[in-house]
Amino acid sequence: MNSDEFRRHGHAFVDWMADYLDNVEQYPVKAQVAPGEIAAQLPAGPPERPEDMAEIFGDFERIIVPGLTHWQHPSFFAYFPANNSRPSVLAEMLTAALGTQGMIWETSPAATELETRVMDWLRQILGLGDGWTGVIQDTASTAILCAILTARERATNYGINERGFRAEDRLTAYCSGETHSATEKNAKIAGFGRENVRQIAVDDGFAIIPAELETAIKADKAAGRRPAIVVASLGTTGAGGFDPLRPIGEICRRHDVWLHVDAAWAGSALVLPEQRWMIDGIEHVDSFVFNPHKWLFTNFDCSAYFVRDPDALIRTFSILPEFLKHAEHGRAIDYRDWHVQLGRRFRALKLWFVLRSFGVSGLRARVAAHIALARELAGQMAAEPDFEILAPARLALFCFRYHPADVDDEVEIERLNKRLLRALNESGALYLTQAIVAGRYAIRFSIGQTETQHRHVQAAWDRIRDTARSGSKREASEEA
Ligand SMILES: *Cc1c(COP(=O)(O)O)cnc(C)c1O
Repeated sequence: MNSDEFRRHGHAFVDWMADYLDNVEQYPVKAQVAPGEIAAQLPAGPPERPEDMAEIFGDFERIIVPGLTHWQHPSFFAYFPANNSRPSVLAEMLTAALGTQGMIWETSPAATELETRVMDWLRQILGLGDGWTGVIQDTASTAILCAILTARERATNYGINERGFRAEDRLTAYCSGETHSATEKNAKIAGFGRENVRQIAVDDGFAIIPAELETAIKADKAAGRRPAIVVASLGTTGAGGFDPLRPIGEICRRHDVWLHVDAAWAGSALVLPEQRWMIDGIEHVDSFVFNPHKWLFTNFDCSAYFVRDPDALIRTFSILPEFLKHAEHGRAIDYRDWHVQLGRRFRALKLWFVLRSFGVSGLRARVAAHIALARELAGQMAAEPDFEILAPARLALFCFRYHPADVDDEVEIERLNKRLLRALNESGALYLTQAIVAGRYAIRFSIGQTETQHRHVQAAWDRIRDTARSGSKREASEEA
């Protein structure tokens, strides 16, 4: 492709992207295709000869777009958001054109220095306080792996990196049954073994019970194991539970255990000073992650990992120990020593664009609006006799179920709700996912798409109510 063609197609693509973002509401939110349907339209072998961009793009529109789930649709209420924004998309285009690989300072000083700066802006925006250093990771999962590996090395005086595991290195990790599966996965990868991940009991609000945590740590110590890390969650994926950092942090201090905080989703709400209740006790925390690529208008991927002691992180990951002193003395940072992989994309650019073009006030306004929308809808549902709130609105997430008065068999209620969820998602008008809340099947309602407004949430509610009630009526008449 020559420069003229690049320019022509590029302009056309920007037009396409602008139209897409303007009109994304016209697509079904969840892809309405069966497994294999897209693959069947793709040739089994690669093209021998170069193909025309117009043809490639035509196939993108014809084959690919119908097989997409539209995460930027304002009626996307599934999982957690992975929202983007126009400034973020523009920066991502520049990143692609620059093709920067910022593994060390020298391979693009601006990439490294901008990252250091915007991560410190983020630290200030979240109100984390002093004494935190940030680095961009691809995902929260990877950041949690970094935390677990650093904790492992600290617990063994950096021994496992040197000599591998020994019989006495029986390390344990602690979380709850509500914790994201990334913790268990990473504990496996880090060599702890799944058996040595303790799931601590939670209270009615889905939060770890600190006394139970301390009992488990003491029992492991007494059995000759080494408690290495607690992963506390702010905003669990199922029902939005918040583990209490202060009492957990005090326990970690007492027993010299690393405390990592997974705030992948909820961390974005810290832009609002009134939501900082959740980081009470942050001074006891060793590492903290949240995803700007979830709820802070920065397109996937961009995960913000903050640590108290960058030296511990670097010591865990560095492959050139003599180089550390150089970094320590503040002359230059080589981010390749701050994570698992060597190469790294220039992700700081989109974060910089987003933070500047929204401004802190713009970020606050959007996040606060999402939270208010979720509260309002949860209140409306609670006021209806045939809807039940199973997990109250925490930030912009709550869980509910349909529960008509004449049905009290739990199995039947679950069946009704599974059918309701399927009907809603097949309508293409909105997209929701499920969770098990205290043993009961629930439908999650999660708000966080950049362009979601009051009318989208209210239209979703109308459809949920109508679909649930007409489904019940239809069944009743079929039985009669
Ligand atoms: C989304 C999420 C994760 C995983 O995030 P990735 O960036 O996709 O790895 C981990 N923990 C929690 C609480 C989450 O919500």
